[in-house]
This record gives sequence, C-alpha cells and structure tokens, in this order.
Amino acid sequence: MELERLSKEDNDKLNSGICPKCGSTHFVQGPSGGNAQNIACENGHRFWFAPPFTAEYQGKIKVERDGDILRAYF
Ligand SMILES: [Zn+2]
Repeated sequence: MELERLSKEDNDKLNSGICPKCGSTHFVQGPSGGNAQNIACENGHRFWFAPPFTAEYQGKIKVERDGDILRAYF
C-alpha cells in the first residue's frame, strides 16, 4: 500500500472537504478506529483522516456509484 503524508496545502484542502488529488467534494466513509477515519472520494482516492493530525494518502480503491450512493471497497 502506498502511503504519503499530505503537504500542509493538501491537508487543508482535505479538511475543507475537497479531495487534494482530484478536487472532488464527494466522500464516503470507511472503517474508523479511535479518532481516525478512512475516507475515500468518489474517484477512489483513499485517505487516513484523523484531525488534528496530518492526513495520509493511501492510494486508490474501487468506488462505485449506485444512484446517489457511493459504495467503496476499503
Ligand atoms: Zn479524489
């Protein structure tokens, strides 16, 4: 699995609800533990998200759109 700590600029984007990889504003939530949450945008960019810590990009996963619902394969 590819791991990449986001730059401050990219982390700020993610905190604003914008995918720093593709600009999407549609996210789906995955597994969580403690204050950490895995999220992915509609295009499959997966992040480890645990404010106030800097998020990590974890590579691409499969995300399917089913009507208005996003289904992600974390
Ligand atoms: Zn994205």
